[in-house]
Parts: sequence; structure tokens; C-alpha cells
Amino acid sequence: MIFHVLTIFPEFFVGPFAHGVVKRAQDAGRLEIRIHNLRDWTFDRHRTVDDRPFGGGEGMVLKPEPVFLAVESIWPERRPDQPLSDRKVLLLSAQGRPFDQAMANRLSAEAELLLICGRYEGVDERVAAHLADDEISIGNYVLSGGELAAAVVIDTVARLLPGVLGNETSAAFDSFQETGHGEGLLDCPHWTRPAEFRGWKAPEVLLNGNHEEIRQFRRRAAREKTERLRPDLL
Ligand code: SAM
Repeated sequence: MIFHVLTIFPEFFVGPFAHGVVKRAQDAGRLEIRIHNLRDWTFDRHRTVDDRPFGGGEGMVLKPEPVFLAVESIWPERRPDQPLSDRKVLLLSAQGRPFDQAMANRLSAEAELLLICGRYEGVDERVAAHLADDEISIGNYVLSGGELAAAVVIDTVARLLPGVLGNETSAAFDSFQETGHGEGLLDCPHWTRPAEFRGWKAPEVLLNGNHEEIRQFRRRAAREKTERLRPDLL
């Protein structure tokens, strides 16, 4: 899968993808992350990407021209208001539809994703209306820019791609997965050695090697934890 990121801070992405699962997946050729500098699609001396909002008010707004030009140059076959079948343009925005595991599962079936990172007061609304296939938010809070949100989306989708996680089933048992211990609930809690730490013991059932008992314990534990911390998921 190919992820494109459109940003005014390309250097931001050196860190998030230089470690762990996503780094290994890139090295193995299972995914590719291409970072594009929005300023490459500006033509004035100052490489201007923003302007004052119509109607007045605080802050600046990212202009539509460089964003449209960038997407049209990355995917020349794409026409305005005409989505491609296996590629999606996603605008990161606090006002977007909530990004969750189900959306990540759907996005992992695409061949390519192009993520647009806003800054300042946001992006000219014509990008949401006529360019983006979807406008997505990673939560009900406001970040300073879309870069962190794009990194979250890429990391979440990447671990769902075939062969990215060492063990093919590990993503299936993650929290929120319908295939997990509790059908869309939280993952079960986990323990490791030592079996006793500062007087706190790992549950005996996990040490006895009885797979059916372990399976049932994990199901129960996942449900209990969900009831306690995320009753909204039940
Ligand atoms: N004025 C905007 C509002 O209140 O909705 C906030 C703009 S925010 C300071 C700048 C950029 O950060 C946004 O254009 C978006 O790309 C990104 N951003 C902020 N919060 C986000 C969130 N919860 N999810 C995804 N992107 C977010």
C-alpha cells in the first residue's frame, strides 16, 4: 500500500515512521510512505500556502490552489469530484467523521491513500467539498496540525495490512476488532514474567496451559475491562 502525505512540515515525519512495525514494513516493501511538501505547488517567491480568512477573524487558512494542484499532480488521472476506485483522498480535520478501527479496516483495503494535513485555522472549505473523498477526525480535540493525525491514521492502517505484523492474528485480537476476544470490545489484559511481581500475581489460569480455559478467561476479562472503562462499547 502507498500512503501519500501532503504537508507544509515534511521533516515532521522523519520520527514517527523510523521505528518498529511501520519501519520494518517499509523495509520489507509492504508499504511505502511518500511525503510531499505543499510548498512545491506554489509559484511565488515566498512559496505562500496560506491567506487571511474571508469575513475576517483570527488566523490564516490554507489556500485551495496548492492543495488541488498537488493532488492532481500526484494522481493525474483523478478528476474533480470523481473519486478513484481504490485510492482515497483524506482531509484531516477536527470537524471530520470520527476515525475508528472500523474505518481503519475499510481503508486498509485501498491501494493508496493521500492524507492532507491542515494547519492554522484549517483548509479552504473547497478542499473538503470538491477534492477530499472524506474528512476525518482522530478525536474530539483540536491539534495544531494534521501531521500527528496523519501519523495516527497511517500507523493504524499499516498494522492491518497483510504481513505487516509478525503474527497474522495479532491485529484480529486487538481492541475494537469484531474478530477480537469480545466482538468490538477492548482487548483482554495481558501479563508476562515474573508470575509474581511485588506480591501481585498474574492470573493462575494463564499459567496452566489449558487453552480452552485461557480463551474463556480472556473473553471474560475483555468484557469486564470494557464494562469498567468503556461501557459505551457494550
Ligand atoms: N479551526 C479548526 C477547528 O476548530 O476545527 C482547527 C484547525 S487546527 C488548529 C489545524 C489543523 O489541524 C486542521 O486543519 C487539521 O488538519 C488538524 N487537526 C486538528 N485537530 C484534528 C483532529 N482532531 N483530527 C484530525 N486533524 C486535526
